[in-house]
Amino acid sequence: MSNLFTIKEELIELKGNTSSLIVVDMQNDFAHPNGVLFCPNSTTIIQPIKNLLIKAREKNAKIIYTKDTHYQDDPVEFPIWGKHVIKGEWGWEIIDELKPETNDMIIEKLRYDAFFGTPLDHVLRTHGIKNLVITGTVANICVLHTVSSAKLHNYNVIVPVDAISAITDFDYQLSLRQMDFLYKVLLTKEKFVIFD
Ligand code: ZN
Repeated sequence: MSNLFTIKEELIELKGNTSSLIVVDMQNDFAHPNGVLFCPNSTTIIQPIKNLLIKAREKNAKIIYTKDTHYQDDPVEFPIWGKHVIKGEWGWEIIDELKPETNDMIIEKLRYDAFFGTPLDHVLRTHGIKNLVITGTVANICVLHTVSSAKLHNYNVIVPVDAISAITDFDYQLSLRQMDFLYKVLLTKEKFVIFD
């Protein structure tokens, strides 16, 4: 399996003022054991994401959280997944361990892709951001779609593989395969990502 993708194990230095750390959908419904669509592996990525948040904040890299957001009668996703992350409810909130701070940006997204129908690209471009470190859950769903869209928008995308989670190992592996093979995303680990 290891030849399906390559994980770069050397330091990656990113300028804080042209980089953003994106935390995808670390909301109670996906990342808390009581969530309706809990992804068990998501608890293992909390610490790596915390570490990245500390490093990004130190160098003023833009921190952006996405929140999957649905209203009471979502006609697209509820037939597939059932009700989840309904705006204003507990399941929609970011998990306590990763609570956003005042200056962090929150992007509410209705679909898997954080660019689709949101101001994310506009925000990134107006801040001169070129590098996106993308983390969160679920690897083969909202993370993969957001990574794909970021590459289609021609951003430099870095994914620390220990900061994304999927429900099954197959889903995780296929996500990394697609990111590497299809989009030439830079796959790495949290400890190698440095903001300066
Ligand atoms: Zn959803």
